[in-house]
Amino acid sequence: MDLEGIEHSRDPALLRQKSRDFYWYSPVLKRQLDGKSAELWARPRDEEEVLRLLRECRAARMPVTARGGATGNYGQCVPLEGGLVLDLTAMAAPVSLTDGVLEAEAGAKMIDLDLWARERGWELRLWPSTKRTATIGGFVAGGGAGVGGMSHGTMRERGNLLGVRVATLEDPPRILDIEGDEANPVNRTYGTTGIITRVRVPLAPAQAWRDVAIVFEKFPDAARFALSFAFADGIAKKMCGVFDSRLPPFFRGIADVVPEGHSLALVMVTAAGMLALREMAAEHGGRIVAEQDAVAAERDPAATPFYEYCWNHTTLQVLKKDRGVTYLQCRFPFEGTLESVEAVRAKFPDEVWMHTECVRFGGRITMSALPVIRFTTEERLAAIMAGFEEAGAGIANPHVFTIEEGSGYRRVPGDQLGFKRRVDPLGLFNPGKMLSFTP
Ligand SMILES: Cc1cc2nc3c(=O)[nH]c(=O)nc-3n(C[C@H](O)[C@H](O)[C@H](O)COP(=O)(O)OP(=O)(O)OC[C@H]3O[C@@H](n4cnc5c(N)ncnc54)[C@H](O)[C@@H]3O)c2cc1C
Repeated sequence: MDLEGIEHSRDPALLRQKSRDFYWYSPVLKRQLDGKSAELWARPRDEEEVLRLLRECRAARMPVTARGGATGNYGQCVPLEGGLVLDLTAMAAPVSLTDGVLEAEAGAKMIDLDLWARERGWELRLWPSTKRTATIGGFVAGGGAGVGGMSHGTMRERGNLLGVRVATLEDPPRILDIEGDEANPVNRTYGTTGIITRVRVPLAPAQAWRDVAIVFEKFPDAARFALSFAFADGIAKKMCGVFDSRLPPFFRGIADVVPEGHSLALVMVTAAGMLALREMAAEHGGRIVAEQDAVAAERDPAATPFYEYCWNHTTLQVLKKDRGVTYLQCRFPFEGTLESVEAVRAKFPDEVWMHTECVRFGGRITMSALPVIRFTTEERLAAIMAGFEEAGAGIANPHVFTIEEGSGYRRVPGDQLGFKRRVDPLGLFNPGKMLSFTP
């Protein structure tokens, strides 16, 4: 292989490190994926180096697995069949910002893009709670939900991903520039349909965001408040997570202000929305116990923005102290949302520690949930998932590593298999992750 001039390594210790993500959240994936490793790691600086690497891999029939911040939870960037781990983190520059559209290199960290946009009066609309470590290419290819989702939905909503540049494994490999619906086949396909080199997303005018913590004596009151807040169209907001009383003690920076036995709502709201939020919290029996400048908090490495207690950070905060838990991803129904949440809580009072997040899907508001689960056996975990489904919740199973089995309600529409056949006829991009594809 001619890798002259391209940063790369075959050091086994480095390869092991670069072949992992956060799959170990799941005891099932941990059993399946521990020990998998690439044969080669390379970090290209530009599209030309990406294409050179892809030409070499095509000639050698070597698998290629893209890697951004490696914060994925389902082993998305674990190379199942060895090969090259193609690390995008040196391609991290913002490219342009025109009329509220940001174009950036795929390996840029989302926090850096947000700060860059803020200096120009704009901000990202949507980000994962791993904003401070995840890349924008990894968010498109492997994530897609999170903070901002209660106003803008997920990345699967038309308009949230405007376009990409993507490198293929055709003969010869080339760069495609695709936009709108045409870009759907690279949206949440775990890098099986090409290496994204640039991403174009719409921005929103920058706002002064406040992080607010509100406590409630009872979980149903917190949940009712959260859903009413989500429906309050006059209040500009980005996030509202709700946690049952077992979870706040794990949130180091704010545990002390949450009275024992109380449930918690964590909210991101504009400064202009604070008055209405205060009134709404009081109406539901809530009491504000902490407040901070959300933008300043995320710029300070010593501080914790409240979104790092929310979304899939909740599970991490617990795992830091208790390795006997895991989690689920689900979405409660649009009608009877709170009844469904309560049905699950009643069914599994000890094993399920409820954590919900308000979201929009196709213009409708509901709660998704990433509850923390006390793990005993894989059979019991499957039974708990079935219990959620019986209560009307949809599951996006985080204990499997293929797109088809794991995406559930988060699947992006579009002909991903047809596109895969076209751009990767040999099946070298992240093999084993797209179940429906055979080379
Ligand atoms: C504590 C914690 C909290 C999280 N919270 C959220 C959340 O709120 N919302 C959410 O959606 N996810 C969440 N996640 C999952 C993950 O952090 C996000 O999805 C994140 O956006 C992934 O970005 P990354 O750069 O780390 O991608 P990686 O993990 O590096 O990659 C993810 C997938 O995308 C592929 N990929 C990466 N870059 C490219 C590229 N340039 N071209 C093609 N394919 C590529 C990889 O091969 C892999 O399949 C969380 C994870 C953790 C550990």
